[in-house]
Amino acid sequence: MHASFSFRVTGQDQHTDARMGVLRTAHGVVHTPAFVGVATRASIKAVEPLALVDLGLQIVISNTYHLHLQPGEDVVSSQGGLHGFSGWRGPTMTDSGGFQVFSLGASKQHGVGKVASIFPGDAPASRAKARPDKPLVRLTEQGADFRSVIDGSLHSFTPESVITIERKLGADIILPLDECTSPLHDHAYTQRSMERTHRWARRGLAAFRMLRDDATFPNPHQVLYGIVQGGAYEDLRRESARVIGDMGFDGFAVGGSLGRSKHDMWNVLDWTMPALPDAPPRHLLGIGEIEDLFTCTARGIDTFDCAAPTRLARNGTVFLKGAPRHRINLRNARFANDAGPIDPACDCPTCRAHSRAYLRHLCRAGELSFYRLATLHNLRFLIRLMGDVRRSIADGSFAALARDWGIPL
Ligand SMILES: [Zn+2]
Repeated sequence: MHASFSFRVTGQDQHTDARMGVLRTAHGVVHTPAFVGVATRASIKAVEPLALVDLGLQIVISNTYHLHLQPGEDVVSSQGGLHGFSGWRGPTMTDSGGFQVFSLGASKQHGVGKVASIFPGDAPASRAKARPDKPLVRLTEQGADFRSVIDGSLHSFTPESVITIERKLGADIILPLDECTSPLHDHAYTQRSMERTHRWARRGLAAFRMLRDDATFPNPHQVLYGIVQGGAYEDLRRESARVIGDMGFDGFAVGGSLGRSKHDMWNVLDWTMPALPDAPPRHLLGIGEIEDLFTCTARGIDTFDCAAPTRLARNGTVFLKGAPRHRINLRNARFANDAGPIDPACDCPTCRAHSRAYLRHLCRAGELSFYRLATLHNLRFLIRLMGDVRRSIADGSFAALARDWGIPL
């Protein structure tokens, strides 16, 4: 572990596994549990990095797959890495791109969702949908060959090349190449995939250690988290947590298929978390609806990233405590003459300045400003919520806070 990185648990809930802590990186401190903003292409959609500082956002996650395709890691590296390039000076993560390589590419080409199987030859024949004449992704022990969703050009990811790309991107916390299985994969496939992901994790870790002291990279203070896989299978999750937990990573991420329901996801965490070492930080990849922020914090998750809150905002859905699912949709006719803010309790720039009636108009008119205003609100809402969660863990009222939000833990 690098000297400029540390994680300290500062409080523990008495009734659940919820904990609070301080994650220290070379680019600042993250108080956990925390929501991680999704800046896939080095930008949270519709909001510039400096506005995120004013919102109180602590950390963002960008995507290695997307940045490799555009503008390319060499461009980012030559501009001082993600911090210099984007102007966001705070803590930063990069996802390895495994999820995008294995899911997004094929789903774009084949018009299938992320639960569809995309590995011709590897997958059960009944679910193999990829066209054998021109597969979008070819997966081998060495790594993954894939076509760009932007221009169809051919690319290869190996566990080693992904670490080099992430070293050039320069995020504070980086993740190794993994295979993200689908909920439809059976036990046998998920096990084979998990074992390969473990071998890739070892290779990624070895590559990371070899490059650790190379001063040509923009951020010498990076750390590497290991990713636990194993689908929704108890024996595989426990094994993956044990194997990845023993490898010497600086922190952990729970990835892959979390099953077909929230109940499956809670099971996965109940199997995984106790099998991981307690001291390092734990990240949950791609999950972060309001309910999840409570139920997964209760299971010991420290950080979350999720694109849904900002995607919802761009579609007109904004958070409001007490509304059904704590959301309202501003397109609704009942807001046509509503002079009040989205949320009278919110201190975001949008709620301070604009009415629901005006925002509904911007949304329906397709005004670009709407995307920014709605996104600012949803992000600020989650930032405030996570602050409340941390305070509740500190003063012993976490369960009461969840009850107040109508969320069973
Ligand atoms: Zn607001």
